[in-house]
Amino acid sequence: MLKGKTALVTGSTSGIGLGVALCLARQGANIVLNGFGDAEGPQAQVRALGVKVGYHGADMSKPADIAAMMAYAEREFGGTDILVNNAGIQHVANVEDFPVEKWDAIIAINLSSAFHTTRLAIPAMRTKNWGRVINIASTHGLVASAQKSAYVAAKHGIVGFTKALALETATTGITVNAICPGWVLTPLVQKQIDDRAARESLPVDQAKVELLREKQPSLQFVTPEQLGELAVFLASPAADNVRGAAWNMDGGWVAQ
Ligand code: NAD
Repeated sequence: MLKGKTALVTGSTSGIGLGVALCLARQGANIVLNGFGDAEGPQAQVRALGVKVGYHGADMSKPADIAAMMAYAEREFGGTDILVNNAGIQHVANVEDFPVEKWDAIIAINLSSAFHTTRLAIPAMRTKNWGRVINIASTHGLVASAQKSAYVAAKHGIVGFTKALALETATTGITVNAICPGWVLTPLVQKQIDDRAARESLPVDQAKVELLREKQPSLQFVTPEQLGELAVFLASPAADNVRGAAWNMDGGWVAQ
C-alpha cells in the first residue's frame, strides 16, 4: 500500500517509534530512522522487510540537527511523504522541584521538534499534494497526571499543533493527526515502573500491575505494533478525511 513512499520516524531506535517504522515498512514504505543508542539493530530489522532504510542521528532538541536530517531525507530518499513525530522523553517531579533544564528539554523534544520537522516537510508535501503527518501524542495530550507538568503541557501542545496544521492543509491531500497512546511497555515506562517498585518496596511485576490499575481499565499494555497499525490506517486512502483527530488507543484510560 505504501510502496514508493518514504516515512521518517523520529525517535525510532526503540519502543513505539520502532514499532511504527516496522509496520509502515511492512506496507512497503522506505524508512528513515532517527534516535539514540544502537541504530544497527533497528536498521537490520527494517531492511529485512525488503525496503530501503536510512538513519540520521539528529538530536531532536536541536533545530540545526533537525534541518540536517530533513535535508538527508530529501537527498537520499527524495523527501518525506509520511512524517511521524514520535521522539519523546519524560521526567516526573512536582513543579516546584522540576529541573529547569528538564522542562526545556521536554518542550524542545516532545513539542518544538515537531514544529521544526513539519515546517520543513510541508512544502514538498504541498507540491506532491500528498502527505501524512502523524504526531505521537499521549493520553496526556487529553487529560493530565500530577507531577508530569512539562510532559502534559508538551502533549496538549502537540494536540493543538495537530489541529492547527490540519486546518491549514484541509483542502489538500495532506492529513495531520495525532495518536494518543495509554501505557505502552517501553524503556520510557519501564523507568517509571522501576521507580515505583523502589518507592513502594514492590516486586517489579506487582509495580507493573499497580501502574496499569491506576489509569488503564483494560489492565493491559498497548503495544507498539497496535499503534503501528493505527499509523498504517492513518496513512491509507480510507483515512483521507481523518483530519485533526487526536485518536486515543489507551485501554479505556480517557473514557473514565
Ligand atoms: P522510548 O524511550 O522507548 O523511545 C524514545 C525514542 O526517542 C528513542 O528512540 C530515543 O533514542 C529517542 N530520543 C529521545 N531523545 C531524543 C532526542 N533528543 N533526539 C532524538 N531522539 C531522541 O519511548 P517510547 O515509550 O517509545 O516513546 C515514544 C513516544 O511515545 C514519546 O513521544 C512518548 O511520549 C510517547 N508515548 C509513550 C507512551 C508509553 O506508555 N510508553 C505513552 C504515550 C505516549
